[in-house]
This record gives sequence, C-alpha cells and structure tokens, in this order.
Amino acid sequence: MEDVKDIGLSGLKDRLASWGVPGYRAKQIFTWIFQKGALSFSQMSDIPLPLREKLNSNFYILGLKKSAGSRSSDGTEKLLFELYDGNLVEGVNIPMALRLPGDSGRSCAGSYSGVTACISSQAGCKFSCGFCASGVKGLRRNLKCGEILDEILLLKSQLHKARLNNVVFMGTGEPLDNYANVLQAVRMINSPDAFNIGARHITISTCGIIPGINKLKEEDLQVELSVSLHAADDKLRTEIMPVNRKYPLGELIPCCNEYIEATNRQITFEYILIKGLNSDLSCARKLAILLSGLRLAKVNLIPANPVSGKKIIPPSAAQALCFKECLAKSGVNVTLRKRRGADIDAACGQLRLRHENN
Ligand code: SF4
Repeated sequence: MEDVKDIGLSGLKDRLASWGVPGYRAKQIFTWIFQKGALSFSQMSDIPLPLREKLNSNFYILGLKKSAGSRSSDGTEKLLFELYDGNLVEGVNIPMALRLPGDSGRSCAGSYSGVTACISSQAGCKFSCGFCASGVKGLRRNLKCGEILDEILLLKSQLHKARLNNVVFMGTGEPLDNYANVLQAVRMINSPDAFNIGARHITISTCGIIPGINKLKEEDLQVELSVSLHAADDKLRTEIMPVNRKYPLGELIPCCNEYIEATNRQITFEYILIKGLNSDLSCARKLAILLSGLRLAKVNLIPANPVSGKKIIPPSAAQALCFKECLAKSGVNVTLRKRRGADIDAACGQLRLRHENN
C-alpha cells in the first residue's frame, strides 16, 4: 500500500492510465483530498465505485493518527500525531484574531481572520537547542512528504469556518535536515492541485543549516525563510544552540546575506528572549551590529515559553520591550511577538515529550 499523496498528481495520472482510467480522475481525487478534506476514498461520491475500491486496495490517504490534543484559552490548538511506527510529532493551529474597527488591540472573541498551521518535519531532532523539548531524545527519523501533508490535513480538519492560510515548518525537527521530503511537501502545499497556499504564506524555519540555505537559494520558490539566531555572539549561541559549532555566525550571516542578494527576499531572524541569558541591552546592541550589513532582514522577538526540566523563563514584559526598542532605534526592522498557547505546553516538542514520558 502506498500513500497516494507521495506519488503526486502526475504519478497518480500515470497509475490511473495504466488501469485504463482517464487522467481527469486524478485531479478529481486530489480535489477531494486537499480541498474537500476527504480522508477516505469512500467519501468521493463522484468517483465510480469500482475505481474507489481499486484505489482503496492500492493506496491510503492518511498515514497519521491524531493521538492527543489541547486547546489554549487564546484559541491555539496543539495536536499530537502518531506515525505508523509509533513515533509522535506535533502540529499546531494558531488562529489570527480579527480586529474590531477602532479596537486598540482587543480581538473579536472567537473570530479569526485565518489560521497558521505549524507542522513538524522530523520525529525528534538531533540539534538539541537548549530552549526546545524536541531535541531532548534525539532524532528518530525523517517524515516523508505524505506524512508532512497528513499533518496539514488533520490540522485543517479541526477548523470549522476559519481558513487555513499559512503553513510554517516550526514544529518538531529541522526542515533543512530533511530537505528532499520537505521541498516535495512545500511544492504540494503550494500547488493549485493540492492545498493551493501561496509560497509567500509558507515559511521554512531553520536553526542555520548553511548547505540547506544555499540549496534553497537555488530553488525557484518564493517561500519565506526564517533563521533561528537567539544570540549574537558565538560563545552564547553555541551554549544555546550547539549547531553553532558546525555553522558559526561568521559563516551563517554571510550565507544569509548571499541568500538575500540572490533571491531579493527578506530573512526573518527568530530570537527567543530568555531571562538572564540573552535578553539584556548589551545583547540587543550586539544583535543590531551583527545584522547591520543585511539589506532585507527582520527580527522576530519571542518571549520564551517555559520548558519543563530546563531553566528557561521569559524576561519581564518591560525588559522585552526595552530590547525591542534598542533594536528599533538602531534601525532594525523588529517585532515583538506574543507568546501563544502558553497554557498548553506550547514550547516546541513539549506535548510529545510529556506523552512519551507517560
Ligand atoms: S529548535 Fe528546531 S533545530 Fe533546535 S532542537 Fe528544536 S526542533 Fe531541533
């Protein structure tokens, strides 16, 4: 049995042709899966019954099972998925609240302008970043393209009227360490024959894998790239992100510069603010200097979500604001994001870790 999503539309057309079935049926089947959310062939009412039966005995649509979930008071919904081999990965629906006219920041309760799906690319992770629960038990395996798409199908099935309009690879795993499967999935997410989500609404987030960034630069894709920095000097960054030993800032920042110049696209640098570690003003000044040569760069500041078993806590709101203002005064394009889903094990990998430890 094969995952029908792994062979893509042209692969399915070829398979149907070998069965004497016209190619347009492949498009119909993909519309059922990606647009109408069919999770079984039996739901495809305009496909002839004998073909549905043949599809059913040759392919499956969904290889993941929803294993647990939790919903935050801010609407963020985290799901735990079980892969066929028992490994667990996480996915999150993050709603973007509607603003009322003249509203000074209050959201319209229960109304969303859209949802961002945050998905995983690997079961576990080998990079062991200090603030992240995903790397605690190392890398188990890469997700296949179809499994990555399964996460979106299941996250989408949780939505009622809200539209899924962004996909971010910020869940478990390092997407550029599973390059081929992630890129195949990105093309399907973007394809009008599949999820039809604009490339600019798809974000690949990396801990700074230089060969992957260099490869991505050569792809004909308008996806967003975000690079996790979390420190502006090698000593501290290596302490927070051991991957910095292999890809230090002295090589990573020039690589990012080349990416920006080659693609004319902005890179977003993620910076998690951790109390007592990387959130004082001297760190902000170093960060401003580090990024000063990049033409298209933005910094996303994220107050840390506490991780059980690790001494990770966010700075005070006032400290976070001072950090942001220091960057802004130095000419850095910066936003300070809210913590989302803080009441539901929101830090990457926490839900999975809690269930594996149970
Ligand atoms: S932050 Fe990303 S790269 Fe680092 S351990 Fe977690 S999943 Fe891996």
